[in-house]
Amino acid sequence: MAIYDDNNIFAKILKGEIPCDKVYEDDFVLAFNDITPKAPVHILLIPKGKYVSIDDFGANASAAEVKGFYAALAKIVQEKGIAETGFRSIANTGDDGGQEVPHFHVHILGGKPIGQMIS
Ligand code: AMP
Repeated sequence: MAIYDDNNIFAKILKGEIPCDKVYEDDFVLAFNDITPKAPVHILLIPKGKYVSIDDFGANASAAEVKGFYAALAKIVQEKGIAETGFRSIANTGDDGGQEVPHFHVHILGGKPIGQMIS
């Protein structure tokens, strides 16, 4: 598993060094709109803790952090009105997964039929 890079772009957003279009924030997470949206709703949900990837998060985050993360996801999809219509959540991981930013994040895509899983 990769070492966490304190200077990755999402770390800079968390430190307030660069801005983001914030959707939601609490003690455990920050959620903001993706800068290059692929759907009418395209939100990135990130934990505030320093986790490189979904497997790093699963292996090393506390129960409170894991609960906080998914509770926030549930709140966000409800508030955005996509809980009923449906959405896709994606966690790209590592080189083969096409992960560009090495801070664990889940893409939340919705607001239209998202299409086939892999094209
Ligand atoms: P991934 O390939 O899963 O690592 O996705 C990284 C995502 O971060 C891409 O969808 C980018 O459009 C998005 N992104 C990169 N920089 C920013 C930024 N400053 N604010 C919002 N989204 C960003």
